[in-house]
Amino acid sequence: MPYDIIIVGSGAAGLSAGIYAGRYLMKTLIVRGEFGGETAKAGTIWNYPSTPGMDGYEIMQKMEGQAKESGAEFADGKLIDATNKDGCYTVLVQDSKEEKTFYAKTIIFAQGSERRRLGLPDEDRLTSKGVHYCVTCDGPLYGGKVVGMVGGGDASAKGVLHLADYVEKIYYIVRGDKLRAEPVNEVAMRKLGDKVVWLMDTSVLKLIGEKRLERVALSREYNGTTELAIDGLFVEIGAKPDVAVPVSLGVTLDKLGYVDVDNMMRTNVPGIYAAGDAVNHFGQFKQTITAAALGAVAATSAYEYHKTHGELCRVHLRPAASSTYDVKSAMVDGTEVLTNN
Ligand SMILES: Cc1cc2nc3c(=O)[nH]c(=O)nc-3n(C[C@H](O)[C@H](O)[C@H](O)COP(=O)(O)OP(=O)(O)OC[C@H]3O[C@@H](n4cnc5c(N)ncnc54)[C@H](O)[C@@H]3O)c2cc1C
Repeated sequence: MPYDIIIVGSGAAGLSAGIYAGRYLMKTLIVRGEFGGETAKAGTIWNYPSTPGMDGYEIMQKMEGQAKESGAEFADGKLIDATNKDGCYTVLVQDSKEEKTFYAKTIIFAQGSERRRLGLPDEDRLTSKGVHYCVTCDGPLYGGKVVGMVGGGDASAKGVLHLADYVEKIYYIVRGDKLRAEPVNEVAMRKLGDKVVWLMDTSVLKLIGEKRLERVALSREYNGTTELAIDGLFVEIGAKPDVAVPVSLGVTLDKLGYVDVDNMMRTNVPGIYAAGDAVNHFGQFKQTITAAALGAVAATSAYEYHKTHGELCRVHLRPAASSTYDVKSAMVDGTEVLTNN
């Protein structure tokens, strides 16, 4: 039997979609790339309603538990391909040992969006220990402190403006000699006067600190030295959603490369939905709560579609002499699924 819905990604968007789909009594499979997505790695989360100060890992354990209780099944691995035959989707997942094939009537892509990193040694070690990628999430931790912001686009400019509400001083480290921010944001930053120190044509070459970030090494001198003492460094140099498979199915993207969805998380391809950091909804405001909300909306849309079109897939998948599917059944986590292995 094909799944009513396959959800790709087990971050806040995917798990929330799984909770809703399970409660809609849809036969649900969640493809679990990496447990809990970015939230599980974000350290303490202060702004998720009802769980102030809880570790992101714990929040995601609870979400995953709730998705399982709702009836969702899990397949570990990475989505590597998907094809569409008359509204019936074949989904290929690669785990550490083998490639598995699943069939679905609807898909939700909830693969998140990987924030671009500086690519420096010690960056992983110091992430959330002075090195941050989300001003909304971690800016409030730096009340009265001195921080750096790396970037040159609008997200970094907005980050500087947001940080200015909390911090004493911001070193704005821009690799080029020009900003790519909206002029209105540049004007607002200029109005902050000495609070923002502009370091144009400058890159961060090294992150220095034992238990947490203490200094950064710069590509050019400031005040007679290339080392800058700061309490925290924020990195806003863009994000990249993994959209190769949705694009191969004909899903369109916005001009920044995010999946283009409408208010109900419908893509341009019937039966395909997307949610969370991978989509263009809410602009650059990308948080655990928005991801979870969009996942719930996507599952609801998929359910509505499934009620009216779901049987199409079963008809197309019925093994027949002329079938292009070499279908056999197999047991996955105690459930019979179709497989072509
Ligand atoms: C350092 C940091 C700190 C943050 N702090 C906060 C905070 O304090 N508060 C807050 O609200 N938000 C915070 N955020 C933002 C928040 O984590 C994200 O907005 C949220 O995780 C987005 O959820 P998502 O489900 O859309 O994507 P993700 O959490 O990125 O999950 C996507 C999932 O899809 C999987 N995946 C990707 N490709 C594939 C594939 N091909 N096959 C199978 N699986 C795949 C990934 O492994 C991952 O598990 C922070 C982010 C970062 C990076």
